[in-house]
Amino acid sequence: MTATDELLARSEARTNPGPAEDSSPVPALHVAIVTCMDTRISVPELFGLNRGEAHILRNAGGVVTDDTIRSLALSQRKLQTREVVIVQHTSCGLNTVTEDSFKDELETDTGLRPTWAVEAFGDVHDSVRRSLQRVRRSDFLPNTDLVRGFVLDVHSGKLTEVG
Ligand SMILES: [Zn+2]
Repeated sequence: MTATDELLARSEARTNPGPAEDSSPVPALHVAIVTCMDTRISVPELFGLNRGEAHILRNAGGVVTDDTIRSLALSQRKLQTREVVIVQHTSCGLNTVTEDSFKDELETDTGLRPTWAVEAFGDVHDSVRRSLQRVRRSDFLPNTDLVRGFVLDVHSGKLTEVG
């Protein structure tokens, strides 16, 4: 049995099949949360979120990339979000590779060097600051004043704001 089979079986077994048909796609809190794909982070648990309250955008690192800006542009312009919360975390996988070492690895294995940035970082606080700047400086986003960044300590569960 694959993991996908397992997920489908769990989906079939659900007693609550999902949201009502007339529920709105507009996040009730008008906020978008950008965070890492790390399995230790449960965004609903972290913020006490319910379904329908926030957009949750996840990628490796919780880094604001061009694709994150794409989603935020749609989130703000078409779905009425006004605030952005960025959460990166301690013990992140992107802290264990370097830009060149990972690109070298890919090039050695495949003969191709990616054009995209790995977004590896040495200091998670610096990485959060870079992502904050990318949101604040984006010409595509109408709402760039209410953006805040945090580091989550995955061991203590504590959030620390990055100024
Ligand atoms: Zn991570």
